[in-house]
Amino acid sequence: MSRIHLLSPQLANQIAAGEVVERPASVVKELLENSLDSGADRIELDTEQGGVKLIRLRDNGRGIDKADLPLALSRHATSKITALEDLEAVGSLGFRGEALASISSVSRLTLTSRPGEQDNAWAVSAQGRDMAADVVPAAHPAGTTVEVRDLFFNTPARRKFLKTEKTEFRHLEEVVKRLALSCYDVGFNLRHNGKMIHQLRPASSEQAREQRLAQLLGKGFVSESVALDVVAEASGLRLWGWMGLPTFSRAQADQQYFFVNGRVIRDKVVTHAVRQAYQDVLFHGRHPAYVLYLELDPALVDVNVHPTKHEVRFRESRLVHDFVFRTLYRVIADLRPQDVAPVQG
Ligand code: ADP
Ligand code: MG
Repeated sequence: MSRIHLLSPQLANQIAAGEVVERPASVVKELLENSLDSGADRIELDTEQGGVKLIRLRDNGRGIDKADLPLALSRHATSKITALEDLEAVGSLGFRGEALASISSVSRLTLTSRPGEQDNAWAVSAQGRDMAADVVPAAHPAGTTVEVRDLFFNTPARRKFLKTEKTEFRHLEEVVKRLALSCYDVGFNLRHNGKMIHQLRPASSEQAREQRLAQLLGKGFVSESVALDVVAEASGLRLWGWMGLPTFSRAQADQQYFFVNGRVIRDKVVTHAVRQAYQDVLFHGRHPAYVLYLELDPALVDVNVHPTKHEVRFRESRLVHDFVFRTLYRVIADLRPQDVAPVQG
């Protein structure tokens, strides 16, 4: 047996990276969430080779002070919470202070930023090691750019698990889709290997939002869905969005988006409630399509369940279940008969 020793920061970060950085799509998720947390309303994303060779994200958000740049790449360093109480009602997408440290331990990362009120931009980089303490002058408009090159170049075991360029890009695109569906007032551009894949303008009107939906999910989803917006008076829970008509059911559960306070989540309680609402109007084996947003007091939901924050825990899951079920069930009950009759296929 060897003696006990402390892990080096780099190794500790690489181990932590195992939890949050599975593939290029996970990097994109973390970077996009940071940009959204920084108040950006324009986000440009350039990717190459499924994101493995390059992920470059530029935003027009708040930016990072020169003095904070090295800290941004350190583990457990965050500007988003200071006390445990903050976690009870966290409004930001991030709060663990781990993403940039993890990503920079398994890639070549450069962070360049200029806060709006300052004249100069500065950059720091890390090459899969502890980041260089050097903060160097750079040219950059107000906002932040994070460039991630050669993901997993120093962790061959992880690199082996990557799939084809096409598959990795599909995952990455799905992440962009989800976040674009969670923030209509933010414009997104996504390029892959120099080609523009999605160009989404900020969408403030109902019509513009449906246009974005059509761009991301297809025109069919918009024409064959109903919009809803329901608030429960007693609890203050709100459910809004679009539910696909039963006639628009799908062979796969590939168009199901459920957001809780702006965060895309997978949750058994919610899935069950939605399923149950559609139960009488869908053939066995068919899946409903939906884009739904649940809003509730942040104190009623725990988002610190898993590092990727794909799961949440509702403090009153019965209440949530019944509200979602009842709301959707009523919408379905009010549909015209021709929108309900399931088509074979
Ligand atoms: P977390 O998001 O959990 O705080 P990260 O490692 O993702 O942790 O980011 C560390 C810190 O770096 C953030 O708290 C934030 O202050 C800063 N930061 C990261 N990305 C951006 C960005 N695009 N714009 C402004 N600040 C950023
Ligand atoms: Mg973050």
